Amino acid sequence: MTSNEPFVPPGTGWPEDPARPDTPVAHGPLEVAELAVDAPGLHELCARQSVCRACDRLVAWREKIAVERRRAFIDERYWGRPIAGWGEDEPRILIVGLAPAAHGGNRTGRIFTGDRSGDWLFASLHRVGLAALPTSVRAGDGQRLIGARMVASVRCAPPDNKPTPAERLTCQPWLAREIEDVAPSVRCMVMLGGFAWQGVWPALKQAGYEVPRPRPKFGHGVETEITSTVEGAAPVTLVGCYHPSQQNTFTGRVTEEMLDAVFTRARTLAGL
Ligand code: SF4
Repeated sequence: MTSNEPFVPPGTGWPEDPARPDTPVAHGPLEVAELAVDAPGLHELCARQSVCRACDRLVAWREKIAVERRRAFIDERYWGRPIAGWGEDEPRILIVGLAPAAHGGNRTGRIFTGDRSGDWLFASLHRVGLAALPTSVRAGDGQRLIGARMVASVRCAPPDNKPTPAERLTCQPWLAREIEDVAPSVRCMVMLGGFAWQGVWPALKQAGYEVPRPRPKFGHGVETEITSTVEGAAPVTLVGCYHPSQQNTFTGRVTEEMLDAVFTRARTLAGL
């Protein structure tokens, strides 16, 4: 799979391709920064995210996985590209994860879709009224976020689910610009896992928020209110949430009740 080659729409379960043949492609950190800043609006930003090729290691990995596939999905054609933000354009709640899963988002083209973490996450979002369906299987499945939007700090699936610090830094302008675009409506941000919590602060700063010093420690249910210097952007409460990874759900470190409590609180903070 190469550059911004347009996709033939689904039947395969992919999202509608946000990119066009002339969507500009970032090939390095400077181009990510430039293209994120001058994207004319959220939709073009997502299109640009979806064709980014700035991180050599991640581009090679996402495309290798897309060719090799997992046995259970051997008949599917993988997305194999960056995962753009998804959900409402003017959300009250922004949910921030770390990075897409190799056989989840990297396969289906939609964040937290088609993997076990997503099963837990969407079941909870549905129980508290933030998602239309209890499952998120593939694009075109009828799933819809209600009052919310989801993004990954790093948009490409990394080996061992671990992006390097340099990769996180390279991807940061996409996140910062997306935060900036939704800032007028957002009142609560839920950080899924400690890596998302730690990684979001530089992006928040770049998006115009006042970042506290020292930075608050991550924990499940931890809350911190931050304000923005950008005109029209209201204060936002960040809420920490343990990641619904299989490791956490298997061991009981994360339960359905714990997820529901965080998202119920997020709804209240967001005035939903
Ligand atoms: S991780 Fe981000 S910056 Fe790197 S290639 Fe993917 S979308 Fe581009």
